[in-house]
Amino acid sequence: MPIINRIADFQPEMAEWRHDLHAHPETAFEERRTSDKVAELLQSFGIPIERGVAKTGIIGSLEGSRPGGRAIALRADMDALPITERNQFAHASQHQGRMHACGHDGHTAMLLGAARYLAETRNFAGTIHFIFQPAEENEGGARLMVEEGVFERYPVDAVYGMHNWPGLPAGQFAIRPGPMMAAFDIFEITITGRGAHAAMPHLGIDPIVAAAQVINGLQTITSRNTHPLEGAVVSVTQIHGGDTWNVIPEALVLRGTTRSFDPAVRDMIEPAIRRIAEGACASLGATMAMRYERRYPPTVNSPAETETAAAAAAELVGDGNVRRDLLPSMGAEDFACFLEKKPGAYIWIGNGAAVDQAMLHNPHYDFNDEASEAPGVPPMLQCIAQEVAGDHGQEDHQAGIDRQQRRRGDQLLGIAQHAAPAGEWRLHAEPEKAQYRFEQDHIADAQRRRDDQRPEHVGQNMQP
Ligand SMILES: [Zn+2]
Ligand SMILES: [Zn+2]
Repeated sequence: MPIINRIADFQPEMAEWRHDLHAHPETAFEERRTSDKVAELLQSFGIPIERGVAKTGIIGSLEGSRPGGRAIALRADMDALPITERNQFAHASQHQGRMHACGHDGHTAMLLGAARYLAETRNFAGTIHFIFQPAEENEGGARLMVEEGVFERYPVDAVYGMHNWPGLPAGQFAIRPGPMMAAFDIFEITITGRGAHAAMPHLGIDPIVAAAQVINGLQTITSRNTHPLEGAVVSVTQIHGGDTWNVIPEALVLRGTTRSFDPAVRDMIEPAIRRIAEGACASLGATMAMRYERRYPPTVNSPAETETAAAAAAELVGDGNVRRDLLPSMGAEDFACFLEKKPGAYIWIGNGAAVDQAMLHNPHYDFNDEASEAPGVPPMLQCIAQEVAGDHGQEDHQAGIDRQQRRRGDQLLGIAQHAAPAGEWRLHAEPEKAQYRFEQDHIADAQRRRDDQRPEHVGQNMQP
């Protein structure tokens, strides 16, 4: 495919951009050098840009060579994490305590590659906006972009995002309609008792014992209050209290995070935490104060755009390499804030086997350049662009869906041939109408064959 060939030409350059970004990681809203580099490259491709969107974000906009009303946005995140990198390779982080441990360096490089290719060819109708957002980790750069009116200034029909996914083989994609990633909230509980000598606990109120009761009690939110088939997580991740061996402290602080998909489950969790913490503390004579903050909504893919992204991926790597069977992740993603406003899809790109079990956010993690070299991975975005805003606008979008349906028909035929007795079932396909059905039009022949081959009693036992 010409797209892949052309991308392959500048693959080494994309890897260079990626390594440079990896060596100079910047955390939320401080992506100044990163932003400068992205801006410089986009301008060198001849793409007009706006800078300073959500502080350090950039939006590049590209018109196709043919007129068209549709517009889409393709998004990459640019921020790193407050982690000290433990890798020794040449492009390891040069900044103590900061690291691209989530592969956003790869996302930025891939979207730059897509922008360069599309700017060279402009072989599409409509408009593509390239969103390079800051602060995906924790601080909600996407939310700030939405609050600043990004979609009012850059109206789009759909928005697409992606994330590298360790453990998924390079050259594979995974996507599903509906929730892909969970809602992400945080909580902080301050428990206050009465400080005392550790040898005279009866003279105080021990906030550490109260915290133990609270932590145990919180485990029942998912096990006793959540529908067994709904996903939810309540994790206490910090306990800060006490200074020495022989003092019962006056107070301590618990912090943690919750995850959920269903809005009703999310609405249930906050009051449940409060109820359990208040009750446990009161039963021991302690008091509590709680802060609960809703951070990111769930990342929910819309069905049509999921099909578009899946069709684009399948076009490049084949249907068998587009996984639709993976469970959603309880991880979170602020791309959700874009998906709250616009239809769109978020897709995982295989990063290959996790080296030494280094998953996302591990100090040994690195985006896999080989994954981005695998056929189809970087051109993914170009293909989405061409599917949606592409050659024939709406027509192409429909064509993509039709292609996908035809492929499903082929899969069904394969399954049927494998599972059904020969000659008994026949696939009646009308691909132009995207209609497939199995007909038992040879049933009489098949029945006769069976009767001929089988002893009478077996035939009778086979009746319903
Ligand atoms: Zn991350
Ligand atoms: Zn990430």
